[in-house]
Parts: sequence; C-alpha cells; structure tokens
Amino acid sequence: MNREFGIVYNSKYSDVKNPPNHPLQGSRYLRSIEFFEEIGLLSKPNIKLINPEPATTDEILLAHTKDHLNLVKRLSERGKGQFDPDTPAYEGIYEVALLTTGGSLTAMRSVLRGDVDCAMNLSGGFHHAKPNQARGYCIFNDVNILGTILLNEGIQRVLYVEIDAHFGDGTYHFYKESPKFFTLSFHESGESLYPYSDVDYLLGEGEGYGYHVNVPLPIWADDVAFLYAFRSIFLPIVSSYKPEFIIFQSGVDGHCRDWQSHLLLTKRVYLEVARLIRCVIDSNKTKLIVLGGGGYDPMAAALCWASVINELAELQLDLTGYDDECEKEPYENVNTMEKIEQIVNGLSPFLSPENSSR
Ligand SMILES: [Zn+2]
Repeated sequence: MNREFGIVYNSKYSDVKNPPNHPLQGSRYLRSIEFFEEIGLLSKPNIKLINPEPATTDEILLAHTKDHLNLVKRLSERGKGQFDPDTPAYEGIYEVALLTTGGSLTAMRSVLRGDVDCAMNLSGGFHHAKPNQARGYCIFNDVNILGTILLNEGIQRVLYVEIDAHFGDGTYHFYKESPKFFTLSFHESGESLYPYSDVDYLLGEGEGYGYHVNVPLPIWADDVAFLYAFRSIFLPIVSSYKPEFIIFQSGVDGHCRDWQSHLLLTKRVYLEVARLIRCVIDSNKTKLIVLGGGGYDPMAAALCWASVINELAELQLDLTGYDDECEKEPYENVNTMEKIEQIVNGLSPFLSPENSSR
C-alpha cells in the first residue's frame, strides 16, 4: 500500500528562544528536516510537506482559559518571565505556540479531509500544559484541543497513545472522566522522572474509569522490556476499544542518548511501535495522526522520528548504518523485566476483551 504521508513543518518551528542550557531548542526540528533530506525521505513520492496554519484564539480556548491565553501573550510581548521553573517565556513564544499548536490541527484536518492518509506534526504533543497553566516546556496543550475538536465532530472513540519518557499528566487530567478519549501512556515512572505524579495506576474517574491506562516503566527499561509492555497492553486495548481515530504521541526522549530520562531505548522501539500501529490502522481502517513529542538530543530525535515515518509510510529506507549506541550507564541494579511483568499482570483486568467496563 502506498500510503500518502504528510509531514507538517515550518522553519519557524525553530524560532524557540529558550536559554542555551535549556533542553528544548529549535535545532531539534531543523536537524530532523536536514536529516530527512540527507536520507532521501523527503523526495519519496508519497511524502508531502504540509505548511501549518497557526491556531486561532478560539481554538486555543477549547482547552485553555482566557487568563492563560492572555498571560502567554503578555509574557511573549514582554520577552521574559517564567510560566514554571522549567518553562521560560521569550519574545515571540505566543506566535511559536500558536503555530505549533496549529500544526497539530493542520495534521488532523489533512487526514480528515483525505488530503493524506496519515500526517505527523513534528512540533506537537505538548501534553503537560493544563487549562490554566503552561508547564513542563508545554505552552498550549495541542492534544487536548485536538480531542475536543474530534469529539465535537462526532467521533465516538479516540485513542491517544504516547511513548514519551514523561507521563502526559495534562492530557490525562483533562480527559480522565471521558470514555470517548482513551489515554494510554508508556513512560518512565514518576518515582524517578517529571511530573512525579503517576507512581500508581491512573485508570480514569467516573464514566471514564477503565478508559485510561498508564504504564510507569522502571528506570533502565530497554528495548526488550519496553516492547514486551507495549505489545502486551496496546494490542488488547485496541481490540477491545476499537478506536475510530488514533493520536500517536511519538516522544523520543526515552532514547539511550537522551539525557532527559533514565530509559535505554533505541530506534528499534520507535520502528516496532510504528509497525504495530501501522498493522492496526491497516486492518481496521483507523485514522491516524502523529505528534513529535519530547526528544532533546537533536540527532537521536531525527533518527527516531525518521524511523517512525519510514515504517508508517512504508518507505523502506535503510537506517541500519546510523549510530544508535547507548551512552547511559545504569547506576542501579533494577530487575526491569520482573517489574514490567508485575505491571502487565496488575493491568490484566483492564486488558481483557470481555472487560465489562467497555
Ligand atoms: Zn518527554
């Protein structure tokens, strides 16, 4: 199948002006596009570059308060300030955030209109932002805005699956009472990583109970451990929930060269997760968009995102020669597989196809 795949990108994504020691830099987008060009990804006939439309203020207000929008605008004009200890303001941050948020909406609309079969916004997946607060490098929560629009369009079952190293708490809390927007999050446990809030299972609340699953991976989880958890949990959830639309947040900060996390993943994980998602959308005709998410080593991010696109768009590019060697040294002995088996077993009541709550 020759899937038409859109990459939503604009060079203004790199207008990020965080201080030089801040992990989030615009170079991650620029390096990715340069790398895609180097490996011939952008010249494949089924790849289409799509220009993002900035989000409107009405769209931002679907998931944020007016006070929050006005604060972002004010600090952006002032050119300084802090939203939280990790999230500084800079001149023009409002315009950058409108453009990147709009990029996710552009990806969604391109897929809904049928311009492309699948689309990825490189600068998307800002899953920590809350309705009234920018936090964890996230200004506007594009995932929450996407979900609100999709549900308003009448879609009954959206599955949001994220593999970012960090738990998407801003998105979980926004949707925790909804059975129509399933959040499934694979991430490093909050015992050792921001946002430090997901040490136990968070399964949703009220009508949403059982429609939200988080998988807090222990430190030093590697490809084998991660893929065991992903296959054991993602596949049963897809077959029981039968999503009409999948939003895949492909954060790559769990890569073994990314110092933001204590995970030891390689490009193999991103490729294999993308392959499993491709199988699901092929057999169920599910619509899919991809959001870049975290990833703070520009070369590792470029390689992992290329691996995701290579698989989803069936490009058959040979990426085996690109260095992917681990630079992290585990400083603690953790029986990772045993812990992951415990997690999978603990979640088993929520994974059965006969699950009465769904
Ligand atoms: Zn992250």
